Amino acid sequence: MDDAGGFVDEGFGLRSAALDVINSEHWDGFGHRTDHLDDPAWCAAFLARWGWADMAVSEPLPRADVALLRALLRRLVNAVAVGQGVGDDDALALDGWLASPARRHLARDAQGYTLEWAPLEAGWSWIMAEIAASMAGMLAPQRHRRLKVCPNPGCRWAFYDETNGNTRRWCNDRACGNRDKVRRFRARRTGVPASADVDAAGSITEL
Ligand SMILES: [Zn+2]
Repeated sequence: MDDAGGFVDEGFGLRSAALDVINSEHWDGFGHRTDHLDDPAWCAAFLARWGWADMAVSEPLPRADVALLRALLRRLVNAVAVGQGVGDDDALALDGWLASPARRHLARDAQGYTLEWAPLEAGWSWIMAEIAASMAGMLAPQRHRRLKVCPNPGCRWAFYDETNGNTRRWCNDRACGNRDKVRRFRARRTGVPASADVDAAGSITEL
């Protein structure tokens, strides 16, 4: 990734830091994996997007801890997306990540004053607590039904459905949604099972 523009173009930085962390293990739709935690430019864009660039500079990224948190967040989103709900063990684990000391703080910006939580000690412990908090916020009643995972097994992009009717199914209709249409179209024409793979160049117009 070259810059922050690439970060946004790839679908990061939209709803929550937790979704960005989950999707930092990025599958391209055909099962090829990229781990953006290994990309300093991605990490810099991520920290800047969520306002943590300053507090992360003094410490290197705790790669193993972030990967551990990511695995928990992925388990949570996978379970919620299929209607299983949150397991007690995973809820306890998420609660553990939230435990970074903070105090209330009156912050001022151009609009006026707002009440915020501020870390007692800025750094990755606080950043990871904030990432966990952004996940916890999406698990609230009425919100968790909007947490979804792209059903393409070669993709698994996690997202928050912002549509009015909560009807979004795919990470991207033009990518995974279109591939699915191709599969079903071919299945109807040829009798090949709809689960058969579609190559990278596959599209309806080519058939
Ligand atoms: Zn997808």
